[in-house]
Amino acid sequence: MTGVSTATYEQWNKVAQVYPISVTPYFFSLAVPGDILDPIYRQFVPDESEIGLSSEKPDPLGEEEHMPVPGLIRRYEDRCLILTTHLCAVYCRHCNRKRYWSGRGAIRIERSFPAILAYLKRETSIREVILSGGDPLVLPDGKLEYLLRQIRKIPRVEVIRIGTRIPVVMPMRITKRLAGMLRKYRPLWVMTQFNHPREITPWSQMACERLISAGIPVSNQSVLLKDINDDFITLQSLFRALVRISVRPYYLFQCDPVRGTTHFQVPIEKGKELMKSIWSSTSGLCLPRYVVDLPGRQGKVALDGEGFDK
Ligand code: SF4
Repeated sequence: MTGVSTATYEQWNKVAQVYPISVTPYFFSLAVPGDILDPIYRQFVPDESEIGLSSEKPDPLGEEEHMPVPGLIRRYEDRCLILTTHLCAVYCRHCNRKRYWSGRGAIRIERSFPAILAYLKRETSIREVILSGGDPLVLPDGKLEYLLRQIRKIPRVEVIRIGTRIPVVMPMRITKRLAGMLRKYRPLWVMTQFNHPREITPWSQMACERLISAGIPVSNQSVLLKDINDDFITLQSLFRALVRISVRPYYLFQCDPVRGTTHFQVPIEKGKELMKSIWSSTSGLCLPRYVVDLPGRQGKVALDGEGFDK
């Protein structure tokens, strides 16, 4: 990368020993060359503070304690989440599952899937399954379809969700063929994560349109990130742009207090003020819920409330 000193490369290398780096040429191309404060760049370039001393936990939501079968997280009665892979196209520096792709928790879905499937068949209150990771859409089509087909054989599972950043970081992966394959397993919802209006491009628009045309609704779960999107103009532009491409702004997440992400944390009070201003000046269609995820079975708690009437 041009304009980066040897000392900076050495620093990145040190961080990458703990939290590796991965970025697609496409997502890289969205960053302003040489601008280390660029909001796209900051999402994939390591920061020394990721490996500094920290009192924060790798798993503050206690997911590991709610794993009745390896690779399956169940924090709610009616739904569960499957960790399909530890790989992602881009390793987002703010990720709340850094512990997996840091190399200590490699996931081989092939090994645990029979046990996961047996659990899904046995647990009669589960009606929704979320494929997550890592990023499920980095799996080859054949492997992904195998998972979907097996889950669909359980009639009680009404809805499948796929949590993926692929429409944002590698939109060309959403081919007509992939959309056509996913279509067979509806009701299926895609939850993606656009964090900045500059991530909405003709490519990402095309990816979302392909999914939507296949009957797969696309919703967005942004994360509130310091110096990336923690200002009124950026957030409002992001939510408006999402609606323009028919993607529903669903949640704005408070960044979880995960080890290695402290430099992205925004005080809740600031988040509330931002959302309050946006609610009072933006169409209701563009408004996500501002939420924080709490450990274990406590789940998501809305941070928007009084004064947010529409
Ligand atoms: S794509 Fe998702 S799971 Fe992967 S690094 Fe980014 S936020 Fe984490």
